[in-house]
Amino acid sequence: MKLARYSMGIGDRFGRQGRAQLQALQAVCAAGVPVVPVWNKSFREHSIIHSRPMDTRRAADAAVAAEKWTGGYHVDADHISLKNVDAFLEAGDFFTLDVADHIGVAAPEADVAAFVARHRDLIGQHKIDGLAQPLQVTAEALAASACKYLCAVREAGKLYRHIAARKGAGTFVTEVSMDETNQPQTPPEMLVILAAIADEQIPAQTIAPKFTGRFNKGVDYVGDSNVFAAEFAADVCVVRHAVRRFGLPENLKLSVHSGSDKFSLYGPIAEALLRFDAGVHLKTAGTTWLEEMIGLAEAGGDGLALAKDVYRLAFGRFDELCGPYTTVIDVQVSRLPSVAKVNSWDGSRFARALRHVPTCPDFNPDFRQFIHVSYKVAAEMGPRYLDALQAHEAIVARNVRENILERHLKPLFGVLAKK
Ligand SMILES: [Zn+2]
Repeated sequence: MKLARYSMGIGDRFGRQGRAQLQALQAVCAAGVPVVPVWNKSFREHSIIHSRPMDTRRAADAAVAAEKWTGGYHVDADHISLKNVDAFLEAGDFFTLDVADHIGVAAPEADVAAFVARHRDLIGQHKIDGLAQPLQVTAEALAASACKYLCAVREAGKLYRHIAARKGAGTFVTEVSMDETNQPQTPPEMLVILAAIADEQIPAQTIAPKFTGRFNKGVDYVGDSNVFAAEFAADVCVVRHAVRRFGLPENLKLSVHSGSDKFSLYGPIAEALLRFDAGVHLKTAGTTWLEEMIGLAEAGGDGLALAKDVYRLAFGRFDELCGPYTTVIDVQVSRLPSVAKVNSWDGSRFARALRHVPTCPDFNPDFRQFIHVSYKVAAEMGPRYLDALQAHEAIVARNVRENILERHLKPLFGVLAKK
């Protein structure tokens, strides 16, 4: 199973927006850039919502049938480990092997020495196509990288073989993810990691490094986008080099775990893809759920009342809801509007505070991030929430579609269509 050149991880927490999301993808395909959707939902999301991976599979299959989508599509077991992979085996055909927890677990000295001996040719200067400066790897740096990453890559190998033994090799897409950690991986480290992945014989089609800067959920990048641009371009070149050098799958590409809405990075990413004729997997978070809230607010009446109720109930559970996400959000209670204030808003005002239009004076990034992690409250409402989505389907779907198409697909992939 081969992943297409361009793919996008789409979240759909409640499994109701598959069709609207596919409509957005149809539009960009019609413009000449086929982008393959990958429904991603992590173990954490499933546990909070009490859904199962097969629910995601069924929602994806149904949306594909209803929209007569003829392109490829996948269901991603997102950020899984050996502890929870089994629940995803049946539904998934894309596995994001999260081994970030094993980064920095020192590999046994003998293993490091064996790795260094095997990859002695990595020591020195490497002229890599596309890079202005050669990549420099000293003997010390090679040993240090091996020590830092070997355990993580071996864990990925274990996890890959666990899945392959049960599903059959070649029947799924493998991603190795190292993004949920504090320190970014440098391009020289990337080269070492890819050598180790090849040693483990993991047929990785995507690799998700931790990039420089902060990737908070649902809001724009925090950091210097020029630094990101240089790092991303270097990683693209290193990946291409590693494919040839280590015999990794020829379609191996970077996966950007964006946490959604990294608008200021879409330009640099598109530029690098064009320059180096490369593919990318862009993983977004489940911000589709925020579009559901925006649609409900805009619907007014019971829809708006429900959106306000979600905020009121969530506000009283701030610590509990933010807890699982502390490393990927930046929300301060003091910057949130009071419940009374929000209750005084009309639907349009509520939507403007939530919708990610950074230039809009009413946009509140704290409000947006906080609602983003408050989906547990909507999940607890059960039928009341799902029935409201049904009742206001048209306006919700329009927001979902426009968000994906106008704010994500066109800025990133639309640029590629023109060339
Ligand atoms: Zn991630």
